[in-house]
Amino acid sequence: MTIENKIPGKDITKEDLETKFPLVSKKNKNIKRPITISGVEFGGSLLPIIAGPNTVENKEMILKTAYEVKKAGAHILRGGAFKPLTFPYRSQKYFELRDEGLRYLEEAKNETGLPIITEVMEVDKVTAVSEVADILQIGTRNMQNFPLITAAAKTMKPLMIKRHFGCSLRDWLGAAEYALIENNSQVILCERGVTAPHTHRSSSRFMLDLQAIPALKELTNLPIASDPSHATFWAPWVPSMSLASIAAGADSIMLEVHPDPSNAAVDPLQPIGFEQFEKLVKQMRRVAKSVDRII
Ligand code: PEP
Ligand code: MN
Repeated sequence: MTIENKIPGKDITKEDLETKFPLVSKKNKNIKRPITISGVEFGGSLLPIIAGPNTVENKEMILKTAYEVKKAGAHILRGGAFKPLTFPYRSQKYFELRDEGLRYLEEAKNETGLPIITEVMEVDKVTAVSEVADILQIGTRNMQNFPLITAAAKTMKPLMIKRHFGCSLRDWLGAAEYALIENNSQVILCERGVTAPHTHRSSSRFMLDLQAIPALKELTNLPIASDPSHATFWAPWVPSMSLASIAAGADSIMLEVHPDPSNAAVDPLQPIGFEQFEKLVKQMRRVAKSVDRII
């Protein structure tokens, strides 16, 4: 990579744009913006809010969350039925609900009308997940699981590809290119925090890479979401990082919201409660307005 050939501020060369990810590149005029997903526009003047629990824990909690986040202004409901947990031992109160969780998500969608985003982790489950999900989420740990991305893209459902916590923009755009090769250009990229240098580890598990947002905007027309819940891993920092993401140009914000955050079955430090969410939506509206976006 010669200096002359490098695109300023990024680990990407002009040659990368032409040879490594030509479809994802801004030069590809076939990427339509905004993309409309079940009536919700990503990458236009609307800045959709995605909210919900980390995990679908039971039917009551996902239904209650769906109603509450909708009332507060969310556009899409999130919740994992298939979960990539860092440690294999499940807490006693938590069992991954898998197909049962998908049914509860479907019920929440039917009751509230909110479109669903949920993670798909296994090629064998792509069909089942795509029957319920309006957006298929490829999680950070699967960002370079190319057979999974290809299978998910082939459903022609929109995808959200979360950034691997240790990857460059180049790796991330390469992963998105796998979806576009399948003629599926309904791809949202989601920044969710990168591994912080060890000197910062005492303050965060991950570090939200806000600069990635304007950097990507120079390279691609794909919409860019930000997930401050997973990046900070700490609910008190979620509001400020959400507002900062909007100021940085994010096209969507994904937030973990739980009916009883401290008793969440997975990662109880990161979700915010309903009242906090309602307050944050109002604040996000104000910042969004200042950058000509609507929530
Ligand atoms: C999630 O959004 O539920 C999730 C597991 O996120 P990530 O893949 O970014 O860790
Ligand atoms: Mn999570």
